[in-house]
Amino acid sequence: MSTSINDSAAETSALFPTYARYPIALVKGEGSRLWDDAGKCYLDFMSGLAVTNLGHVPAQVKAKIVAQLDTLWHVSNLFHIPQQEEAAALLVKHSCADAVFFCNSGAEANEAAIKLARRYQQNIAGTGRYEIITFHQSFHGRTLATLTATGQDKVKDGYAPLPEGFKYAPFNDIEALRDAISDQTGAIMLEIVQAEGGVNLLQPEFAAAVDALCKELGLLLIIDEVQTGMGRTGKMFAHEHYGLQPDIFTLAKGLGSGFPVGAMLAKGYLRDAFGPGSHASTFGGTPLSMSAVIGTLETHISEQIAARVADTGTYLMAQLHDKIGSLPVVKEIRGMGLLIGIECNIPVQGMLAEAQQAGLLFVSAGPNVIRLLPNLLVTKEEIEEAIRILQPILQAASVTA
Ligand SMILES: *Cc1c(COP(=O)(O)O)cnc(C)c1O
Repeated sequence: MSTSINDSAAETSALFPTYARYPIALVKGEGSRLWDDAGKCYLDFMSGLAVTNLGHVPAQVKAKIVAQLDTLWHVSNLFHIPQQEEAAALLVKHSCADAVFFCNSGAEANEAAIKLARRYQQNIAGTGRYEIITFHQSFHGRTLATLTATGQDKVKDGYAPLPEGFKYAPFNDIEALRDAISDQTGAIMLEIVQAEGGVNLLQPEFAAAVDALCKELGLLLIIDEVQTGMGRTGKMFAHEHYGLQPDIFTLAKGLGSGFPVGAMLAKGYLRDAFGPGSHASTFGGTPLSMSAVIGTLETHISEQIAARVADTGTYLMAQLHDKIGSLPVVKEIRGMGLLIGIECNIPVQGMLAEAQQAGLLFVSAGPNVIRLLPNLLVTKEEIEEAIRILQPILQAASVTA
């Protein structure tokens, strides 16, 4: 270990400096509120980046995890795991999918989706088509395959050589997609809302065209619902808004309410492509993580969270249009449910810091977009409170814009 008297706190940290961290240490959470180590309270409109969808430390999920903590934490997937069967059955019952593979993160879920698509085309359909088309501004994760799938150069810098078999097309451009498809194309992978990429919404005409092309050419449709799934957009899964039935879709962020867990879900005809020995995860689907998933899903179902989000999301959008929509700095407000982007005509990093000072936490989506991700049980009063903090910040920014 190298030390110097002049090292700053950041330089002496034992962690890799992979994150540009805000100067705040959050130590306690409850519902929509977070507290830092100095006791300051914040209204949370980022939810750990769409993870704590049921608020911080939700009682129903906590009860499930605590009960499991007393019984059994981990067993190998060499054995039957009843909690994993139960969680998968719940997901299948409430989605268009027939089979589930559990893992630990969004990147791993997408990695499994990519592997399943290739293996299906090679071993089951026998077409040998390995290429996957993804879209500019997409985000699919940070493993080598998923960062290659991601349509943003900044996540790829310095990691060459990258895996082969990915091709990129502009989002919502039907002709460009047609041109990108080749004899080797086996799947198309997309997000319903490109959340990291700027809160860009899938256009209905494009969705219909992708669906038709997949059916016509025998391509698999993979939908990355890591951020949009689990009620975030006002449906349990965002593809339901478009009447799509993806061959494969992936979940992670909100799936365990903060417990790390991911899932790859697929139609029944893909089941045999992942036979014994084809894919695995040591920690995927342990009794402990499954207790978090079951608690989360049961809460979603009993509290009808998605329908509630449709209502609160409409209220948030209307309030935003009313209170900040005409400010000069605001270029466009767009989103779905409680995943909302406010595109400004200047960078938003300074506004984000000012909001933190004033007790409101949110994130950006690219340099110029404020991204609001409150928990899905957020109240109308909390929405009004957030806008009371945001409005003067955007108003002051409008003077310089
Ligand atoms: C966050 C995210 C991922 C990556 O998830 P990790 O759990 O960080 O690996 C993938 N796709 C989308 C759409 C995401 O928002």
